[in-house]
Amino acid sequence: MTLDASELARQLAARRKPKQVICPVCGTQAVGLGRRKYCSERCAKLAWWRRHRAGPSETSADEAALQAWDDDGGAGGAER
Ligand SMILES: [Zn+2]
Repeated sequence: MTLDASELARQLAARRKPKQVICPVCGTQAVGLGRRKYCSERCAKLAWWRRHRAGPSETSADEAALQAWDDDGGAGGAER
């Protein structure tokens, strides 16, 4: 995988765009950032645990999604 500087900058900018998401865990409508798709860190972790307990497959993507919470500032953005 190769990324030049402009492509990397474009992807970083795209990740900061807020968008409406429906939390797949509790159904709450929330504003998500980037790859975020849950209303709260609590739901993100709950979904992560559900998938881990369901089976070991495709866990790397979930770990990346959880990491995105830290990258985007966690649940702090939801308060504003
Ligand atoms: Zn939720």
